[in-house]
Amino acid sequence: TDGDRATSGSVRERLERLREEVRYHSRRYYIEDAPEISDAEYDALYAELEALESEHPDLVTPDSPTQRVGGEPLEGFREVRHAVPMLSLANARSPEDLIEWDARVRRLLGEEESERLRYVTELKIDGLAVSLRYESGRFTLGATRGNGTVGEDVTENLRTVRSIPTELRDDYPPVLEPRGEVYIALEPFEEFNRRREAAGERPFANPRNLAAGSIRQLDPKVTRSRPLTIFLYGVGEGYANYASHSEALAALQEYGLRVNPYSVHETIESVIETCKRWAAERESVPYQVDGVVVKVDSREQQEALGSVQKAPRWAIAYKFEPLAGRTKLRDIIVNV
Ligand code: NAD
Repeated sequence: TDGDRATSGSVRERLERLREEVRYHSRRYYIEDAPEISDAEYDALYAELEALESEHPDLVTPDSPTQRVGGEPLEGFREVRHAVPMLSLANARSPEDLIEWDARVRRLLGEEESERLRYVTELKIDGLAVSLRYESGRFTLGATRGNGTVGEDVTENLRTVRSIPTELRDDYPPVLEPRGEVYIALEPFEEFNRRREAAGERPFANPRNLAAGSIRQLDPKVTRSRPLTIFLYGVGEGYANYASHSEALAALQEYGLRVNPYSVHETIESVIETCKRWAAERESVPYQVDGVVVKVDSREQQEALGSVQKAPRWAIAYKFEPLAGRTKLRDIIVNV
């Protein structure tokens, strides 16, 4: 009817407006490293878009930001195609979301497999996702996530990060792609800003911004002067050498890589307890974290669960509530 057409017309317009807004802010964040709104504000916009799309699945377009990972690679860097895509993560906002996710995982795995289900929890670091490549134990290539399939070659910049070894030790496989988050801890970030301000320069808005901007610099000398470090949390190519995620993390540590602290759980209740504890203690963590990532441990089970669109079904990010009393990002001068 005319009425239906009018409604779907205005829904279409609302969807397009929301998509435009989300695209604009994604660009500021992923491409320009200069967000104008806080992550919580961005997440609210994104959630509104997702909700509207799920009410109108026929209006979902392939170019919608909900269907894509991150941002496009910057010009000026060579492009790197990821053999194993670098995906995003689905979000859980409450313990109930985790319980629901656990039930879905068990349903998909079946009763027998569910008996040997284990989860790993890790802090979710707020930095920039990168993939390192080691051939015969030598660091040969470093790339950003980019749009998940194609990232930027930032090898020379990553060579300046002291916690990234140029050579692995021990029994490494011939080809290994450790993946993780490059970040700047809170104390060095504040120190860096103090020195900038003393020199009459504008401070950076947050550690994530500074880390991302520092890695995506055309001049490695600038990158070298930034207090960057890395935590590895997974493996792209070469993952088949390990039976589980926790086994892979332990191996990365053996090779001399810096691994994000993790714990293994037998039940979702124990996972929830850990998420709540970290949420209460997040301010004692010396770097910026925005949640806890929960992963199915067994590689076989991960493969059985697979991925949907832009995120694996075997992992979920439990997001913390935004910190109260923090200065709003848009009140701070943002620069690149
Ligand atoms: P995401 O935050 O949803 O989760 C995926 C990413 O988590 C991975 O790519 C990886 O880099 C990271 N990660 C950190 N620790 C990890 C661990 N232990 N294991 C696995 N992954 C780990 O990433 P996304 O897809 O980039 O989602 C968007 C995020 O960016 C949200 O936090 C959003 O608020 C923010 N954002 C903000 C703005 C803004 O304008 N403020 C704009 C766009 C996006």
